[in-house]
Amino acid sequence: MNNEVLRRIPSIEQLVMVITKKYCEGEEQKIAQEVLVQLLRRATQKVRQRLQSDLLGTENIREADLQNEVLAQFYVEEKKILEPNLKKIINATGIVLHTNLGRSPISARAQKMVKNVMEGYSTLEYDLKEGRRGERYSHVEQRLIDLTGAEAALAVNNNAAAVLLTLTGIARGKEVIISRGELVEIGGSFRIPDVIRQSGAILVEVGTTNKTHLDDFVSAITNNTAAILKVHTSNYEIVGFASQPEVEAVCRLAREKNLVSINDVGSGSLETIVKGSHVEPSVRDCFRAGFDVVTFSGDKLLGAGQAGIIVGKKKYVDLLKRESLLRALRIDKLSLAALEGTLIDYATGMSGQLIPVWAMMNLEESALVKKAEALVAKLTQLTKRGWGVKVIKTSSLAGGGSLPTVEFNGIGVELAPVGVTVSVAVKKLRSLAVPVICLVRENALVFDVRCVFNDDIDYLVAELVQLAGVETR
Ligand SMILES: *Cc1c(COP(=O)(O)O)cnc(C)c1O
Repeated sequence: MNNEVLRRIPSIEQLVMVITKKYCEGEEQKIAQEVLVQLLRRATQKVRQRLQSDLLGTENIREADLQNEVLAQFYVEEKKILEPNLKKIINATGIVLHTNLGRSPISARAQKMVKNVMEGYSTLEYDLKEGRRGERYSHVEQRLIDLTGAEAALAVNNNAAAVLLTLTGIARGKEVIISRGELVEIGGSFRIPDVIRQSGAILVEVGTTNKTHLDDFVSAITNNTAAILKVHTSNYEIVGFASQPEVEAVCRLAREKNLVSINDVGSGSLETIVKGSHVEPSVRDCFRAGFDVVTFSGDKLLGAGQAGIIVGKKKYVDLLKRESLLRALRIDKLSLAALEGTLIDYATGMSGQLIPVWAMMNLEESALVKKAEALVAKLTQLTKRGWGVKVIKTSSLAGGGSLPTVEFNGIGVELAPVGVTVSVAVKKLRSLAVPVICLVRENALVFDVRCVFNDDIDYLVAELVQLAGVETR
């Protein structure tokens, strides 16, 4: 292939003219000129690469053909440029708090409050009573105090920020003692040892992976110790020959030695969760055990948007409010609105129904079966085409670093496709306008119904029928 062929690709200027002319004649131009040029550059580059790697003869290719090829590429990209990348999906995995799928959906009240705040101006940092500057954090503090039994509260960007701020404010330049069994890594890059270092605190590990005794904490305390940190092992559990001292004893020790006891509980449920033999303490339970400061996420079991909550003794929370780092970690107004809306839902005493993650986790098997059967009833066209369609039992985790060892028994609809392979089918489902993420079995797709909203069922059915119809023709 020689360069002469490459030179037949029309110039960007020429292409811009062609497209602008087209816009003038017909449909209006929907994208900015600079973006248009950018897209044309990329389209041209693609065609150039195609020519360079084309081993077949390209010598006779005409300029007009190349122009059409570039334009075809351009139109594909042009369509995509106005489509969001971050979009709604249908979650048929059964995992309520799926970190990759946006964790917690927010309640109707929270959505309304976000919309209100987002559409115009708000009291974000305005004190209506006094008619002067107010405090962003004030909107949720009392609500968090009421719901957790803390003396004071502070909401920040996320729980990683909450832990970082807490350690910075309380233990910068001093030692923080933590059990080796709790040096947690949460998905992504949140590693407790790194966060401790980043805060300027000095990490002091005690005990072993499986066993830590109270004495290990006792003998690690020095004049420079500021705090004892407990971290919820959100995504694993050490079982077998394993033990940690009673948290009450750890908190008592901290109090006796004038240290701050901090608990990063990760998910932070406002109610004690009892699931079979597993008991997950609530934030209130942490204070009963004696912790001074507790941190947790807004978008895990709390069911709000992204946020990190710090609750605890007033003198420590006040200290953190004065940290300059807080400015960099502050919660934004939309998350704050979602958080306040969710906290109001808790205040009604109807959180189990009003907050989506709780409503979904609370679904009884009978309700799930009903939901699955309703879905199956709408899939007769698939059965007619020979697809296997049946209701099956599933099992999933809460996800999002919550309740790592608690299995949720779920119900799903299993589809064994005909005329299309499972892998092609899941790929097609992922490429829909509203992508569907489901479970994959050897010869079947499974749609766990727990997290599929009723409003999305008809869309799902229509797309499944389409999938079966198109592929078996
Ligand atoms: C999830 C989790 C975090 C991080 O919380 P984000 O809100 O995602 O920043 C920190 N610690 C524990 C124990 C967690 O489970």
